[in-house]
Amino acid sequence: MAYDDQNIFAKILRNEIPAIKVYEDERVLAFMDIMPQAEGHTLVIPKAQAVTLLDLNAEDAAYTIQVVQKVARAIEKALDAKGIVLMQLSGEAAGQTVPHVHFHLVPSSIQAMRNHAAEMGDMEKIKANAEKIKAAL
Ligand code: 5GP
Repeated sequence: MAYDDQNIFAKILRNEIPAIKVYEDERVLAFMDIMPQAEGHTLVIPKAQAVTLLDLNAEDAAYTIQVVQKVARAIEKALDAKGIVLMQLSGEAAGQTVPHVHFHLVPSSIQAMRNHAAEMGDMEKIKANAEKIKAAL
């Protein structure tokens, strides 16, 4: 699928709009979701331009999942998470709303998670969670 470089995550990657970042290296960025489905909901995105998981090259896919694991460990430690839902929506038909591939880490359960991209979170709480996650990384 054609990549739209004006999507919101592309703008975050170019620092054109702010994000509460917890981890960044040359290939991957992790930042807090602003409409969290649970406290500590974090997004991990490859910097490569890919809309869905199926558009992502194997090297970036492999590298990104390693960072997903690293951030998940930090979330577990920082927030004493008993379980973490890893979610990846590929394609509008699956409910994907931002057309840049991303992995959701939601420290919750599939039954207890809040609705998807439904309600803005409390920015102070989100920032506090980010600080804890960063400290655990
Ligand atoms: P998708 O529906 O594409 O799987 O998930 C997109 C996610 O991005 C949603 O969970 C939504 O809350 C989040 N989101 C949408 N706009 C922004 C934004 O401007 N900043 C951040 N940090 N997250 C966003």
